[in-house]
Amino acid sequence: MQTGFTPAQLADPELATSEQILRKCVHCGFCTATCPTYVLLGDELDSPRGRIYLIKDMLENARPATDAVVPHIDRCLSCLACMTACPSGVHYQHLIDHARVHVERTYRRPLRERVLRALLAAILPYPRRLRAALSLGALARPLVRRWASNHPAHPARAAGGASAGGFAASLRAMLQLAAAATRREPAPEAARRAPADGDEGGAPLGRRGRVALLSGCAQSVLDSGTQAASVRLLERAGFDVVAIDGCCGALVHHLGRAADGAAFATRILERIEAERRRGAIDAVIVTASGCGTHLKDYGHLFRTDAQRAGVAAAMSARTRDITEWLHEIGWSAATAPARATSAWTHQGLSVAYHSACSMQHGQQLDRAPRELLERAGFEVREIPEGQLCCGSAGTYNLLQPEIATQLRDRKVESIRRTGARLVATGNVGCIIQLASASELPVVHTAELLDWACGGPMPATLRARTEWFPPRR
Ligand code: SF4
Ligand code: SF4
Repeated sequence: MQTGFTPAQLADPELATSEQILRKCVHCGFCTATCPTYVLLGDELDSPRGRIYLIKDMLENARPATDAVVPHIDRCLSCLACMTACPSGVHYQHLIDHARVHVERTYRRPLRERVLRALLAAILPYPRRLRAALSLGALARPLVRRWASNHPAHPARAAGGASAGGFAASLRAMLQLAAAATRREPAPEAARRAPADGDEGGAPLGRRGRVALLSGCAQSVLDSGTQAASVRLLERAGFDVVAIDGCCGALVHHLGRAADGAAFATRILERIEAERRRGAIDAVIVTASGCGTHLKDYGHLFRTDAQRAGVAAAMSARTRDITEWLHEIGWSAATAPARATSAWTHQGLSVAYHSACSMQHGQQLDRAPRELLERAGFEVREIPEGQLCCGSAGTYNLLQPEIATQLRDRKVESIRRTGARLVATGNVGCIIQLASASELPVVHTAELLDWACGGPMPATLRARTEWFPPRR
């Protein structure tokens, strides 16, 4: 694509990067068929190619974002399916990130949207605040539900921003997701950090190294069983584990809040560096693939920061999804022999594996989780239309609830068609999104692998033990 940026514009590193990306697009449109919003809405402006034109026009002409452009940018899930499909290597992720920052800086959103976005940015990255908000949400649920039902979403704005109806739809979505999250409270033994009574787990293999494990923000509240299972898996595999607390910044980054995102990322970098000075770290392990995609991009985010660019690039290179790392070290349930602690066997259980967008498109990791599950004895089933997003996408399901709900219901129906007994995935957002509508239990892949080698049965499966074959 031809561009017309001036030399003065290209002196700005952000514009220079976007210009390089724009120049790679050859308008072929291969990306459109894989774009969830184009599939649902059929509007070229809600396709990757259409958005690329809108972004080019805005940036090249130094135009503030307008009412005509912002809804199309907002409707993008940042699922990155278009990057997987693109034959020209267009780095859409960096382009849409730049566009979101431009929108945030040049566009004044309606008050309701500003309030909603500010609330999300002020609550979600902070575990204590999120916990308090969930408790408050449980108390206020009947009142909010009544208010929301009096403000139905206006069909004309169904895919738009936060009108009164859109705001109500966002509140309804929050309640639904909060209810799904509350139902997932793990039993104490599932949430414990290290092997203890009843989890024989086999003797850990000889000490092989030391890894840092990101605790994250929302996941530590919404799905703490995953973190505990990951610690047990890594320790049994012979690794000392140091926990790194805090948000990686992805949530606010995707809201276009560049400064907030950079502040979170800087804190994570500093914490990991502090640990690295105490002792070598072989890998930075992430259990939420949305965060993993963001950490792997720190090298890009800090590229113009003379003080941190090198450290950030090195950290990105050391970042691994938990399944990527286990696959890399040759994990199998047999290499961490365990005495069975659960009365039910996982052997032969059918699992529909939902590959999160941040896993398959953001990190290009698709085979490793499936292979690990198969090695552990599960029967992995493919979900039709596996490349399509489930609608979670960070805060998307709260900001664009109508589209998110359509995508979720489409995914749940595809899962149902597999006939599997449960769903496995590697991202907390997808877990909560699918659990809010699926009859099947939705479990993090790490919890299943942990169970397969002696950890407790995942808490969400315990209510369904009649579905699982008893151990002989
Ligand atoms: S990131 Fe996803 S929603 Fe956005 S343009 Fe690409 S495919 Fe479409
Ligand atoms: S597939 Fe790539 S090159 Fe083709 S229109 Fe989409 S972004 Fe542009």
